[in-house]
Amino acid sequence: MAKTLVEPTSTSAEKLRTMLLDKRSAVQQQINELLAQHREHYSTTHNDSVLDLEDMSLRDSTAEQQLSLLESRNRTRMMLDTALRRLDDGEYGLCEDCGAEINPGRLKALPFAKRCLSCQHQAEVLEKIARQEDRSDM
Ligand SMILES: [Zn+2]
Repeated sequence: MAKTLVEPTSTSAEKLRTMLLDKRSAVQQQINELLAQHREHYSTTHNDSVLDLEDMSLRDSTAEQQLSLLESRNRTRMMLDTALRRLDDGEYGLCEDCGAEINPGRLKALPFAKRCLSCQHQAEVLEKIARQEDRSDM
């Protein structure tokens, strides 16, 4: 009996794509809202000519929070894009480093995981070492 290979266009891949696209559009919406808030924030800051300093700094910290939120949402969007690309290439769910299948439970929790758990740990350790080396160079 011949083994049937899972085709990249199988139902589960389609489900995954829908799930990733859903997440992506949710993230995109958050980005749009944050951008709108940010624009609003700046237009009100510039229109009000009389603002006391306390008010100004409060507004600045809000703007900073918005920007860091925006940054993290943008990173998520990029990871989702990568996951979608990998899905198109039939590489989704395979570890980038060792090529092994990523645990389905891990993918469920982290739909854009690019590495299996052990490779991810390794990568994080290496990253940490690299950061420490950066510091010691300074
Ligand atoms: Zn791996």
